[in-house]
Amino acid sequence: MNKRDKQDAEKDKDKDKAARLAALSPFELKDELIKAAGGGAVERPANLAMLNAGRGNPNFVATIPRHGFWQLGLFAMREAERSFAYLPEGVGGFPKRDGLVERFELFLRGNKGVPGIAFLASAVSYVRDQLGLSASDFLYEMCEGILASNYPVPDRMLKLSEVIVGQYLRREMIGKHPFIGEFDIFAVEGGTAAMTYIFNTMRQNHLIKSGDTIALGMPIFTPYIEIPGLNDYQLAVVDVNADVEKNWQYSKKELDKLRDPKVKAFFLVNPSNPPSVRISDESLQYVAEIVNERPDLILLTDDVYGTFADDFVSLFALAPKNTILVYSYSKYFGATGWRLGTIVTHRDNIFDRLIGELPKDVKKELHHRYESITTEPDKLKFIDRLVADSRTVALNHTAGLSTPQQVQMVLFSLFSLMDTPDAYKKALKRLIRSRKRALYDGIGITFDDSDINQVDYYTILDMEFLGERAYGREFVEWLLKNTEPSELLFRLAREARVVVLPGRGFGTQHPSGRVSLANLNESDYRKIGQAIRTLLGDYVERYNAATGNTLDRNKVL
Ligand SMILES: *Cc1c(COP(=O)(O)O)cnc(C)c1O
Repeated sequence: MNKRDKQDAEKDKDKDKAARLAALSPFELKDELIKAAGGGAVERPANLAMLNAGRGNPNFVATIPRHGFWQLGLFAMREAERSFAYLPEGVGGFPKRDGLVERFELFLRGNKGVPGIAFLASAVSYVRDQLGLSASDFLYEMCEGILASNYPVPDRMLKLSEVIVGQYLRREMIGKHPFIGEFDIFAVEGGTAAMTYIFNTMRQNHLIKSGDTIALGMPIFTPYIEIPGLNDYQLAVVDVNADVEKNWQYSKKELDKLRDPKVKAFFLVNPSNPPSVRISDESLQYVAEIVNERPDLILLTDDVYGTFADDFVSLFALAPKNTILVYSYSKYFGATGWRLGTIVTHRDNIFDRLIGELPKDVKKELHHRYESITTEPDKLKFIDRLVADSRTVALNHTAGLSTPQQVQMVLFSLFSLMDTPDAYKKALKRLIRSRKRALYDGIGITFDDSDINQVDYYTILDMEFLGERAYGREFVEWLLKNTEPSELLFRLAREARVVVLPGRGFGTQHPSGRVSLANLNESDYRKIGQAIRTLLGDYVERYNAATGNTLDRNKVL
């Protein structure tokens, strides 16, 4: 092969590679990026550790409610061993209701000063005095729950656990917003399970059928893009795009797409992933107005990041009858391994109404589907259909979330409810903000910190937006024309061992990278920023060489 052929072959190989990479999902691409950052024969500075800012998994852990969990566990073990004819071979029994509160108080007194004990003492007072619940019933539910000695009953959620988690969601998702009526909660294995169950039950109950159109608030957590395209669903998707120039808010014009009667449902992540921006009050109000005109519009809001915002108000508060609320404890409490999430619907909702209005033959089919679990299947609520469908209906009676999971969920909720100065929330925000500052300092650019809707769990580095701001439109156009979409990400990975996720996979309009601010330490973010700056400088020099321009790569941006 002569030199020219060889070069062509190399080019073809690169093109093949680019095409192959373009077809990968962002999470697959991430694996390629990690490979590029980790292995291979590429020369790189010695002992430069890989910095993976692609992970959404937080590197912090809420300690106090976990201490509470373990101490409660020790108390419950005493109960198991004192009750019933305890056998030394390792056989215990159920806790006893009689005298439970008194024994618990003795336990607290005997363990004064031990981490978690003061928290448990306050938690029981709070449940009794602030929530008006029976301390004895509460302790019994918690002890039985943490011992995991019974199937979770009721299957949707344990009784007092639902009340307490309900109070938590009320505080964090509704706040001071006026709200009429009650809501039901289904405790599930994280936001992931919530999404799976909701898509499935909506389809089983003909709320969405293949060929239907749904709208997605873009950019969005990738599974929301991928699930509608699956063979099981085959939904048409309308993108409602947030605009980087408007601090990632949706314009009225974009939201007006929801007025189209073809659009059956609108799925939204708020605050968004990846831009990590909460929808403005004005836009929420605008969606609520559209719902007034379109009372059948189904809304799903995934508010996993709502607790990172001050005075957050969910779309669920504004349009409760139309909205399914998804919440997860994973991110805020650093608890992705626990698998804790909730699905919430208002007691008076359009899902039950729409099911009631289905054609006769469909209703008959659904009657048959649910008749094994209730004598009145037509009256089975949408949320209880979610519970049943999550275990293929036939295993409905064991559909509940494991009871120790529910106990930890309750303790996380109580921790947050009792933290009236919001000390935990403020501490997390300080942590995340300082990381963001370090990142941008490293790049050498200032950022606008005044947007109250900015949550900053992630930050998007939008090449077009940042590049233009830094070096002008002409440079950006040159850059976009002369680089492959994932080239910058791969160079960052190979040369600086920095992994960030491609924004494209989340449906961003411009080439961009998502940096998680939750996953690494402050000094790492500074290094990531510096690596990005070095790379950009490199492109500035190439641009100068190619065009005869004289941009200064060290310009303070
Ligand atoms: C992380 C995340 C989830 C999944 O959370 P789990 O509770 O860990 O399953 C769901 N939705 C969004 C938007 C997320 O970022």
